[in-house]
Amino acid sequence: MFVMMRANATEEEILGVKSQILAEGLTPFAHEGNGRTIIAVVGDAGRARQRLLNHLAGLAGVEAVTEISRPFKLTSREFHPEDTVIRVGDVVIGDGSLTVMAGPCAVESREQLLETAAAVREAGAKVLRGGAFKPRTSPYSFQGLGVEGLRYLAEARERTGLPVITEVMEPNQVDVVAEYADILQIGARNMQNYSLLMAVGRVARPVMLKRGFGSTIEELLMAAEYIVSAGNPNVMLCERGIRTFETYTRNTMDLTAVPLLHHLTHLPVIVDPSHATGKRWLVKPLAIGGVAVGADGVMVEVHPNPDAALSDAEQQITLDQFRELMAALGPIHEQVRAFRSDPVVPAATAGMVGRH
Ligand code: PEP
Ligand code: MN
Repeated sequence: MFVMMRANATEEEILGVKSQILAEGLTPFAHEGNGRTIIAVVGDAGRARQRLLNHLAGLAGVEAVTEISRPFKLTSREFHPEDTVIRVGDVVIGDGSLTVMAGPCAVESREQLLETAAAVREAGAKVLRGGAFKPRTSPYSFQGLGVEGLRYLAEARERTGLPVITEVMEPNQVDVVAEYADILQIGARNMQNYSLLMAVGRVARPVMLKRGFGSTIEELLMAAEYIVSAGNPNVMLCERGIRTFETYTRNTMDLTAVPLLHHLTHLPVIVDPSHATGKRWLVKPLAIGGVAVGADGVMVEVHPNPDAALSDAEQQITLDQFRELMAALGPIHEQVRAFRSDPVVPAATAGMVGRH
């Protein structure tokens, strides 16, 4: 349930509500936005639910108490009506700008990474990607350079000024990856690795959570809920394609996910047309599609010589293709900005202020 405080509620009244929630063995999460505080009551109230609801509704400073039927709470628009904006150095994600993250699937060598980093930066990328720990379907495939790869990413950041995003695969890698990277990526295969989600929830680094290829939107949001409830509010979601009966493409890019997620959650949404399609020539049209439906960012795999890549060779685009892609995305984003400024108010929050 959510406790909506009056606009003029005092600090003492807010504390009073929180302490009553704690006394029930539940956890209060407060969010201040649009001039008022909303307190989410997290935990299982069981049979005490109705009594608690009535009790909280009668406390000083409380405007209303509402039941929320959605299983995700802290990631919901109802709790947090305005968009979450994530800052990584000078890069701002979720403020209406378009954040392009580009780089190789895997960090393969120092030269390969530095060459790619300089080129994508020159073309307008805001974040450098590159896998150091690679989740591969086959145990015999290239598994990534590990910590050596992290060092090259840090060097590339130093040279280009681009913040870096890289995948963390296990809870015991979180500290070392967080030491080198600016954004932690949770891969599709790990979307429901709950101990990993809680581990990244405890570090002071933004997280990009990729949708599992067999996961529903609700499961994605519940996975994000693990990270946010563990203490890390800086989460962005990534649509990277889901598995369907179609075999021409590696996955099926669910473009509906973008406006749907914007409706349900305040978290920024990134699209990854590289893993979604698995084909180089499909990356540009689907990146354009993602931007057209309002994505806050695009992640693409770029390689100086894709055919020689040690992983995902078929889907990585060349440096030239990346420059072309950037030229195409700019004008589309400009057009879309206008319609994204329309408020999208979820039905359950009618009367509350929606996204801007
Ligand atoms: C990646 O982005 O490096 C990756 C492995 O993608 P996904 O987890 O979406 O398969
Ligand atoms: Mn890849």
